[in-house]
Amino acid sequence: MLVRFWGTRGSLPVAAKANAVRNKIAAALVAASGRTFADEGAAREFLESELDFAAAHTYGGATSCVEVDVGQGPFIVCDMGSGLRELGLDSLRRCTQEGHAREWHFFLSHLHWDHIMGFPFFVPAFVPGSKIVIHSGHADAEEALRRQQEEISFPVPFDYLRAEIEFRTLEPGREYEIGAVTVSLIEQHHSHSSYGFRFRDAAGKVAIYSTDSEHKIDRMEGEADVVAFFADADLVVCDTMYSLADSVSMKEDWGHSSNIVAVDLCHEARARRLALFHHEPTYSDADIARMHHETIRYEELTRGAVALEVLCAYDGLCVEV
Ligand SMILES: [Zn+2]
Ligand SMILES: [Zn+2]
Repeated sequence: MLVRFWGTRGSLPVAAKANAVRNKIAAALVAASGRTFADEGAAREFLESELDFAAAHTYGGATSCVEVDVGQGPFIVCDMGSGLRELGLDSLRRCTQEGHAREWHFFLSHLHWDHIMGFPFFVPAFVPGSKIVIHSGHADAEEALRRQQEEISFPVPFDYLRAEIEFRTLEPGREYEIGAVTVSLIEQHHSHSSYGFRFRDAAGKVAIYSTDSEHKIDRMEGEADVVAFFADADLVVCDTMYSLADSVSMKEDWGHSSNIVAVDLCHEARARRLALFHHEPTYSDADIARMHHETIRYEELTRGAVALEVLCAYDGLCVEV
C-alpha cells in the first residue's frame, strides 16, 4: 500500500512567504559557492544530497488530507482538508488515464473546519457519474458538510453537487471491508470527539491515521486502548502538533499531542514507522525540521525492542508501506 500526503498542516492552511523563499535561495547559493553545475539536473542533485530538507524544500501548508492507495478498488481518503483540492484533480487524471473506478471513500477524523474545508473544491463531486461515500464516527457529518456550503459561507450549495453522495456512520470496535481494505476506528480525546482509523490491506500491512487527539504524557496507563489500536502498525500517522514543552504548559487541553507522546505510544505498540503530522501553522520549515531531528534523537534514546523510524510528513510525500 502507498500512503500519499496531500495536506499535512494543522488548523489553518499556510504558504511560505517571499522572504522565506529568498532566504532558502540565498543559503543554497552560499552552500554552493565555488561549484559549477552542468545543468539544472546537476543542481537539483546537489540540493537533494547536500542540503537538508528544510533548506531545499518546504513541508507545505495544505491542511489534513491523506490517501491510502492499495492499487485496486475505490480511492480511500482520510479527511478533506485543503489538500483535497489537488487530490481531486489528480484522482480524476488517474480515472481518465489509468481507468481507475470513479468512486471515492472518505474517512473523517472529525468535523473541524481544517478537516472538511477542501470538499467544496473537490472537483469529482461536481461530475455526474462519480460515487462518493463519506464514512465518519460522527452522526452529524452530513450536517457539517451541508452547513459549510450554505449561502452565507459558500456560493455553491451542497445540493448542486452532481455526484452520488452517501453518508455512513461507523462504530468503534467493528471492522468494515472497503474494497481490498479492512478498516476499524477508535474514539479519541478532542473537542466534539475525533476518530483514528486503522487500515489493513490484503497482505496484512497496517497504516494508522490518528490526528487531532490529545494524548497526555502523565496518564500513559490510560492510553492502553490507543496502544492496542496502534499495535504492530507498519506506519502511524500521528498528530504531533506541539513540542512537549508547549503541550504540557500553555497548550494543555487544546486537543493535540506532542512528538514525544507519539514516540512513546508507537514504542509501546511496537510500531515500525511514525509520520509526524498536523504541523502547527506558525512553525517555519526550520522549526518543523528541528522538531523532526529532536524526535529522532528521543526515539534513539528511548528505543526498546523494536526500532521506530521517524518520518516527518510533508505535502507531496508518498510512503510505501
Ligand atoms: Zn485539525
Ligand atoms: Zn480538530
